[in-house]
Amino acid sequence: DQRHRVVVLGAGGVGKSSVIKRFLFGAFTPEYHETVEDLFCRQYDISGSLIKVDILDTAGNIPFPAMRRLSISTAHAFTLVYSITNVDSYKEVKELWIQIKEERRDYEKIPVVIVGNKVDLENDRIIEKFDALDWVNNDGLKGRFVEVSAKTGECINDIFRILLIQANIPTVRQ
Ligand code: GDP
Ligand code: MG
Repeated sequence: DQRHRVVVLGAGGVGKSSVIKRFLFGAFTPEYHETVEDLFCRQYDISGSLIKVDILDTAGNIPFPAMRRLSISTAHAFTLVYSITNVDSYKEVKELWIQIKEERRDYEKIPVVIVGNKVDLENDRIIEKFDALDWVNNDGLKGRFVEVSAKTGECINDIFRILLIQANIPTVRQ
């Protein structure tokens, strides 16, 4: 058996909980409930092997830096989320990537995906896709980026597909 702990990080309000909810339950709620910390455990039978996935949903604003440090040090994979409508959340994701590289000597071996959420709000877009691509391509994150919408479900599965590829977990082809 393999156990994988996916830690979801990003500023408050970017849609971390919504992305997880969309992925796990296929649902979306417009109300905002602040997260302290939530752990979701799932088992998948992928090509005959049992894969256990723990998804850790974290708080955006970090009242406890030690909590963030702990979540970074224990992760097997990272999902770093910003909102395409919010420049501060984009800066936060860049900061997180710096912190991960500082705290994890093995960072080059850790699956990571950068997620630009809320693409359904195209009219409120602040962060252009080509700007984000320019950053990821030049910061060791090539191919590890996707724009999604938790509201519509657009590209949500790509987040996990990108992580599975890096973890060398074969995904079932149809
Ligand atoms: P978190 O603090 O990062 O966990 O963010 P939440 O998942 O709680 O979402 C914050 C707010 O943004 C909520 O009101 C959500 O309904 C809303 N939201 C989340 N994802 C999307 C999205 O893809 N599109 C739109 N329009 N709103 C979203
Ligand atoms: Mg949340």
